[in-house]
Formats: sequence, structure tokens, C-alpha cells
Amino acid sequence: MTTKSKKTKSAGRFGSRHGKTVRDKLVKVEKKQKVKQKCPFCEKLGSKRVSKGVWECPRCKKKFASNTYYLD
Ligand SMILES: [Zn+2]
Repeated sequence: MTTKSKKTKSAGRFGSRHGKTVRDKLVKVEKKQKVKQKCPFCEKLGSKRVSKGVWECPRCKKKFASNTYYLD
């Protein structure tokens, strides 16, 4: 049985490709992407990324421009 002890996190899908530094950076971004994003208007979680830097909140129906990959 093989035990996958991966510290590669979400970048594990690349295997050994693309280099460690790049994969580590990607993990950092994807980790933030994975958690629910907070809408800056109604403070509720669950904003969806429509496109690069374009976000939409399902609650207040606002569409807004913000960070590319995640909201702070
Ligand atoms: Zn909202």
C-alpha cells in the first residue's frame, strides 16, 4: 500500500513539474481561493468569482471588481 504523504497540497496534481517555487506560490493562492470569500458590501460569505478580478455576491446581487484570485 502506498501512503501519500504529500506536502505539495493542491499543487500535487502537477507532480514534479513546474518547479517547487512556482508550485508553492500556487498553493498559497489556491488555499485562499478555496475558502469562502466575503462580500465587501453585505459582509456575507459566498461571493463567487465570475472572471479574473470580477466577483458577484449571490446575496446582494452586486457585481464588483476586486482581487484576481481571492477577496481579503
Ligand atoms: Zn453581498
